[in-house]
Amino acid sequence: MNVFEAVRENGITARQAAEYCGIKINRSGMAVCPFHKDKNPSMKIDNRYYCFGCGERGDAIDFVAKYYGLGKKEAALRIASDFGISFEDNRGRKPPPKRKRKLSPEQRFERAEKKCFRVLSDYLCCLRQWKEQYAPQEPDGEWNPLFCEALEKKDYIEYLLDVLLCAPLPERVQLVADYGEEVLKFERRLEQCAAGAEGGAGKDNGENGAGVTAGNMV
Ligand SMILES: [Zn+2]
Repeated sequence: MNVFEAVRENGITARQAAEYCGIKINRSGMAVCPFHKDKNPSMKIDNRYYCFGCGERGDAIDFVAKYYGLGKKEAALRIASDFGISFEDNRGRKPPPKRKRKLSPEQRFERAEKKCFRVLSDYLCCLRQWKEQYAPQEPDGEWNPLFCEALEKKDYIEYLLDVLLCAPLPERVQLVADYGEEVLKFERRLEQCAAGAEGGAGKDNGENGAGVTAGNMV
């Protein structure tokens, strides 16, 4: 299996690739297009992507190629490496090395911290959006659950992010240790939202990206 087939077989969507590039995708699956001067989200991203503004379109590999200015093969290799996908190249190239065991404690912390930061920032972004978007229109109108969630969590998440950004190392280490579990919950919450579940209502299929890691077993 070459790298293109491996990426395809692992079902890496344009959406996953774009999110990995740091692109924010809203609940309707739209994002601000990184390929033209876009103010409002004009790009629809799902399995593939299409920009209603500039007409860019393609799949995960096209997205990464365009975003980083890479050739398609380089882009596919990058995705394989970022998502931990193994493959056998036609020319017998070895799969990307598995790096899991060799991480030092410092590297592990750095990774965990980065992940915390990424998840919390993404979540805060959603909360801020919900707070505006779902604010009650009338004083005695019913409150949207997402608006309530935003009110409830926003300060807390901002506080955690503040610590990650500004606190000295020992405090950050403590935070990552104490809140790691909770951050995973936020991550699942984000995945629910990304999956378009209305308000994330109780849909939990218990698969933590199983498709992405399947290739590691080879
Ligand atoms: Zn565009």
